[in-house]
Amino acid sequence: MNRTCPKCNVVFWADPGESLGAMYLDYAVATAVFIVLWAVLSWTTSLSDLAQWIIISVVTVASVLACYPITRSAWTVLVYISGGIERPRLKIVRGGRT
Ligand SMILES: [Zn+2]
Repeated sequence: MNRTCPKCNVVFWADPGESLGAMYLDYAVATAVFIVLWAVLSWTTSLSDLAQWIIISVVTVASVLACYPITRSAWTVLVYISGGIERPRLKIVRGGRT
């Protein structure tokens, strides 16, 4: 992930703890995948508990990894909406001609 915007040089995640927020989104993805997959497997198949556990674990980890760039992007958008990303200030030239 880029630390700064290549066009306007704004810093995306200024705080060191900002990545924690993206981990919340990872957690949400993992929980959602886990619950949906568990419900589907238990209602539509008659697999053993161990087989279900293995399938759910693998798919959950894979979905978190697959959604990794999306959760980072989504968190950056949330930080932007909440005002956490500030554009570099424009220089105001008082009384001068540009
Ligand atoms: Zn930019």
